Amino acid sequence: MVIKNKPEAKKTKLKKVAAIKAKPKVEKKPVVSKAKIKTAEAAANGKPRVAIISLTSCEGCQFVLLDLGTRFLELTEQIELVDFRLIEDSEDDGGMLDIVLVEGNPVTKENEKTLLEARKRARTLVALGNCAAMGGIPEMKNYHEGVSTIKHVYKYLQGISNPEIREIDNFVKVDFVFPGCPINGEEFLTYIPELLKGNIPIIPDQPVCVECKKAGNRCLLLDKKPCFGPMVLGGCGATCPSSRAQCQGCRGLRPTGNVGAMRAMLKNLMSDEQFQNMTEIFGLRDDLEERERRDRLTKR
Ligand code: SF4
Ligand code: SF4
Ligand code: SF4
Repeated sequence: MVIKNKPEAKKTKLKKVAAIKAKPKVEKKPVVSKAKIKTAEAAANGKPRVAIISLTSCEGCQFVLLDLGTRFLELTEQIELVDFRLIEDSEDDGGMLDIVLVEGNPVTKENEKTLLEARKRARTLVALGNCAAMGGIPEMKNYHEGVSTIKHVYKYLQGISNPEIREIDNFVKVDFVFPGCPINGEEFLTYIPELLKGNIPIIPDQPVCVECKKAGNRCLLLDKKPCFGPMVLGGCGATCPSSRAQCQGCRGLRPTGNVGAMRAMLKNLMSDEQFQNMTEIFGLRDDLEERERRDRLTKR
């Protein structure tokens, strides 16, 4: 899924967890007729109802939220956090939701059902991170042995769900994407207020290179080291090149990134196979192929 974020488009942590758990719990009111009443309650207290759900994932994006510490706690004061299993132990009431943040891939039938139900209940559905938005690291198996990859992990396969990995926008409409593996906590705090107001923010279409330059880094390309920065959506603070590591595109392609030029430039620095392997790490490969197809068609 190419990160568009346009309205029409589609760990340490024990102390923090304990602190978060210690927050005063809202006394539960008797649930009479669930969805409508709960929605009315939320409307009455003026707090948007938010759920953070996890499909099949490493949960790293959720931990980024916990890493925000008191700033995340302050946010939870402004919302009714209906579901966030890392810190909540109360049951989701099943009511309507203003925002659902979805982490991970729908791998099992249960995941699929959770996702479809979340969509039905949500005014705004948001992909939380690279797995949900782009297939992420799990998508690598699609490009190699596919479903037979599982034999390297499980001895007995009976009862193991092992479909091809597909991004969540293959199942439901996605209103906004927090990109990255994991997501960027500062970016989360920047855009969540707009989402809570019912608006769909637009992440500026600028490459990782902008932040890389601002950080004063020497460009890796000058040292003949491949880097995807020019075609990848910035906003991560150029985390990788700032540590002299190449950008591998975990935030996805920029809407207007020049994929052809990037590929041509990298031809001198890496083989086609190396290029392809690098695009598979964060699920960039299918988006790149789609973009190249689209660019070929527009040139005709
Ligand atoms: S995007 Fe990265 S950090 Fe987030 S759930 Fe997927 S693998 Fe984990
Ligand atoms: S190191 Fe990468 S991100 Fe930084 S300026 Fe060079 S190409 Fe761009
Ligand atoms: S530099 Fe590239 S790979 Fe690293 S966090 Fe940013 S977008 Fe992701």
